[in-house]
Order: sequence, then structure tokens, then C-alpha cells
Amino acid sequence: MIIGIIGLGLIGGSLAIDLRSQGYSVLGVSRRMQTCETALRLGIVNDASTELRLLAPANLIFICTPISDIQATVIQLLPHLAPTTVLTDVGSVKTSIVKALDPLWPNFVGGHPMAGTAESGIEAAQADLFVNRAYVLTPTAKTPPTALETVAHVVRLLRAKVFFCRPEEHDRAVAWISHLPVVVSAGLIAACQHEADPTILELAQQLASSGFRDTSRVGGGNPQLGVMMARFNREDVLRSLAAYRQHLDQLTTCIEQENWATLEDHLRQTQQARPKFIHE
Ligand code: NAP
Repeated sequence: MIIGIIGLGLIGGSLAIDLRSQGYSVLGVSRRMQTCETALRLGIVNDASTELRLLAPANLIFICTPISDIQATVIQLLPHLAPTTVLTDVGSVKTSIVKALDPLWPNFVGGHPMAGTAESGIEAAQADLFVNRAYVLTPTAKTPPTALETVAHVVRLLRAKVFFCRPEEHDRAVAWISHLPVVVSAGLIAACQHEADPTILELAQQLASSGFRDTSRVGGGNPQLGVMMARFNREDVLRSLAAYRQHLDQLTTCIEQENWATLEDHLRQTQQARPKFIHE
């Protein structure tokens, strides 16, 4: 099977590395020639170009551009595809993408690997990024089972854990565990950064350790990706932010009123709930 990858950045480059090492022939298309040259120099792809027509022989194509470019990229790609080519994307939001692409190409399967780092671009690509990570596929009633099985098969080779759900279910779930944390974590960093006393700010920066590293990690990631999540999953992000604000208010009230028993109850509940979200 020949695999095409459009958008040779963190996710596209990492997919290319793993799929090449599985023995697939990998063709990469990226926006900048310099990125294509880097991908070739690093041996990430068998061939690379800024021209989508390079992907004409591909049997399966992963679209790994920023979310805002996915639909336009597919429209430009269509004239180069054989009818049997399977298309999938890796966008962090699914409902709007699936709604746009389902009518454009019958063999389309929406996808989202739940893996990433704070880095971006081809230099950030790494082997085994998807190992033991969830990889969500969001078929619709129109998705051909053969296309779904083709994508699921390749995703399993990445040693990712495949999940199937509806695009709307995906977006609502990831609003809680991926998109809300980005906003909350960004708010945390911004609040700390605005400490008025420069001596205290410097001391805090020097004392920050694992707790701050964990809670600030996603707020310190790729800004464009954060904007895309909020923009393309706006309603679900706003719904989860409203709930978050409500819980923050409850915790604040406990502290204001020195209601330590209630605060402890809250923290006991969160202590018990956390392991259900973290699978290590
Ligand atoms: P990234 O590192 O910035 O990579 C995207 C790459 O796409 C860029 O390096 C750029 O390469 C290329 N590109 C941009 N516009 C393009 C276009 N019109 N045509 C072809 N190539 C284009 O971003 P990423 O983190 O890999 O994210 C890519 C996709 O993965 C997004 O849809 C995102 O939602 C999804 N995703 C990200 C994560 C994460 O944590 N980062 C996790 C899961 C899914 P050049 O300009 O250098 O050619």
C-alpha cells in the first residue's frame, strides 16, 4: 500500500516515520519546499513535494494540515485521486470536518489521534508518538466499511488504541479532556505571569516544579492549535468552560467562607475521579 501524507508537521511527520518503518511507501506533501527537503533529508518520506499531484498513486491519504486548511486541501486534491483512494484526516475537531468532507469523497473516514507534544513542525516529528494512545475514528452512516477497516488497520499498526464514535460525541468528549484543559492551563499561566511584584514573580518562576509543569503543559503548547480547537469546537468548549467556572466558583466560595469540610469533600471527590480519566 502507498500512503500519502499532507502536512509534514508534528502529526504528519510522526505518522510518516512510523508508517515507513512498517514498510509502507510514504509520499509527503507540504506547503513549503524547505519542509519537503527536510523530510527527505531525515528519511521521513520516500518522496516529497509541494504539489498534491504527487499523491495520485496513494491508496490511503492522511490529511495533517491545520484544521482551517483541511477542506480546501481536499477540494484541491480530488482531481488527483483514484476512486478507491481512502482519505482520512487527523484534525482535533470532528463534526465540522466530517460534515464538510463526507459529501466530497465517499471513501472518507474522520480521525483524531489523541497524541501530541508542545512542539510543532517537521523537526518535532518523532517515532512511536501514537503508541498506547487513543486514536478516534468517526464513521458516519455513509462511510464504507472497507474504508473504515483500511484506516483502522493502519492505525492499529501504529500500536494506537482505536475508538469509534460519532463526530458529535467525539467533540463533546474532547472538549472536556483536551480543549477545556488548554484554556484552563493558559488561564493559569496568564494569572501567574501577572503577579504584580517582580521579586515574587521571579521567585515563583524559580520555585515552579512538577506540579506547575503538569498543570501548565497544555497551556504552553502551539497557540494556533489552541485557537483552532476553540474556533471549530466553540459550542462544546463554551459549555465545558461554563461548567468549569461553576466548579471554580464553588471552590472559591468554600475558601472565602472557610468551609474546610466542604472543600475537603470536593477534593476527595476529585481525587477519586481522576484515575478514571488517567490510564497509565
Ligand atoms: P504542525 O506541526 O504545525 O504541522 C502542520 C504542518 O502542515 C505544518 O508544519 C505545515 O508545514 C503544513 N501545512 C500547513 N498548511 C498546509 C497546507 N495548506 N498544505 C500542506 N501542508 C500544510 O501541526 P500539528 O500539531 O501536526 O497539527 C496538524 C493537525 O493535527 C491539525 O489538524 C491538528 O488539529 C491535528 N492534531 C494535532 C495534535 C497536537 O497535539 N499537535 C494532536 C492531534 C491532532 P510547512 O508549512 O512547514 O510545509
